Amino acid sequence: LGEQASRFDVDHLAQCDSTNTQLLARAQRGSGSGTVLVADVQSAGRGRRGRSWVSIPGGNLCFSLLWRFAAQQRLEGLSLVVGLAIVRALQSLQVSGLSLKWPNDILLDGRKLGGVLVEVAQGAQGEWAVVIGIGLNLRQAPDLAEEIAQPFAALSECGEPPARELLLAAVLRALLDVLEAFAREGFAPFVEAWMPWHAMLGAEVTVEQHGLVRHGRCGGVDALGRLAIDMPEGQVFVFGGEVSLRRV
Ligand code: ATP
Repeated sequence: LGEQASRFDVDHLAQCDSTNTQLLARAQRGSGSGTVLVADVQSAGRGRRGRSWVSIPGGNLCFSLLWRFAAQQRLEGLSLVVGLAIVRALQSLQVSGLSLKWPNDILLDGRKLGGVLVEVAQGAQGEWAVVIGIGLNLRQAPDLAEEIAQPFAALSECGEPPARELLLAAVLRALLDVLEAFAREGFAPFVEAWMPWHAMLGAEVTVEQHGLVRHGRCGGVDALGRLAIDMPEGQVFVFGGEVSLRRV
């Protein structure tokens, strides 16, 4: 990481339940912005809305990063800029075929290579203490029934994957750039950079929100990172936290 290393304080665990869970607890105990927790194995990795993130021992990179933002910061676009940092890092390591599925998935040739889980620690006053969890399949994607709806991928499909430490350093370097800019200017300056990675632009999708499934066509993202969807009743903008998209 060179001189940027001082911005990160990296801790490594052989095993834990979930790096997000552990780092949320550390955030409450006052850990600083830039604290990173990497685990070889997670026994209870999480996705959004109580789903699980499965990581094959020795076959993945799973880590969480704590970042503190001012209380007035809008966080809706955060998982999008994190995705952007990840594809930039992978690109710097000569990985191609990447795209981003709004709001939080990294795709390789259209299949799920990784995910981002953004969570806010409770009780922090006057600021957001945000834990950004990242899981990427390096050597192996899990074998799960959900794959029928949404196939998975691993970097090894494109040849020998980068060493875990190298990939971690590349992602942290890219994250530092985007997080500092995001803290200063929000998501608006990232719209143009994010759009070329948009895996679902123009696609017919189902939009599942609070148990309700609707059909529409995906548009672009706005200055807050919300996704535009053309529905029979007109265009709506949806936020990331509670929405799942599937191609029809
Ligand atoms: P979507 O928006 O596509 O419905 P999601 O973004 O809500 O999904 P996440 O919360 O990012 O999904 O991750 C949880 C889901 O990811 C699981 O339900 C499972 O289908 C899938 N998954 C779990 N582990 C992996 C993995 N290692 N690689 C790829 N996909 C995984």
